[in-house]
Amino acid sequence: MIIGSGSNILFTKDFEGIVVKNNIKGFRIDDYNDEYSLVTGSSGEVWHDFVIKTLDNNLYGLENLSYIPGTVGASAIQNIGAYGVEMKDYFYSL
Ligand SMILES: Cc1cc2nc3c(=O)[nH]c(=O)nc-3n(C[C@H](O)[C@H](O)[C@H](O)COP(=O)(O)OP(=O)(O)OC[C@H]3O[C@@H](n4cnc5c(N)ncnc54)[C@H](O)[C@@H]3O)c2cc1C
Repeated sequence: MIIGSGSNILFTKDFEGIVVKNNIKGFRIDDYNDEYSLVTGSSGEVWHDFVIKTLDNNLYGLENLSYIPGTVGASAIQNIGAYGVEMKDYFYSL
């Protein structure tokens, strides 16, 4: 089982297997122009830190999803959402 921060997981009994805690970090701006920006976040990045990095680079859109606990990788798996914005609205590829 791959986990990010474990913030959406409750173990109710012993888990028979290997639990992998993802700690792969990375942030990269791949492309931007007047219409869109394409940003890559590694799956083990803390989601909120990733949002802050986009804002630090004047790339807007994810701010409603700030402070959601967890990782970038889980954000796509879970389709995180808040305040009328969902990850699927900004997601490009995994
Ligand atoms: C206080 C609190 C507030 C929250 N508020 C919100 C909110 O406003 N909106 C919202 O949408 N959610 C919210 N959540 C839920 C939580 O933040 C999200 O579900 C988040 O995506 C969990 O991230 P995580 O890294 O902790 O995932 P985990 O809990 O570690 O994993 C969640 C699931 O995703 C899978 N997974 C994780 N990483 C990967 C990966 N790299 N590859 C494949 N599978 C993976 C796991 O196997 C598991 O099935 C909140 C949770 C808490 C505790």
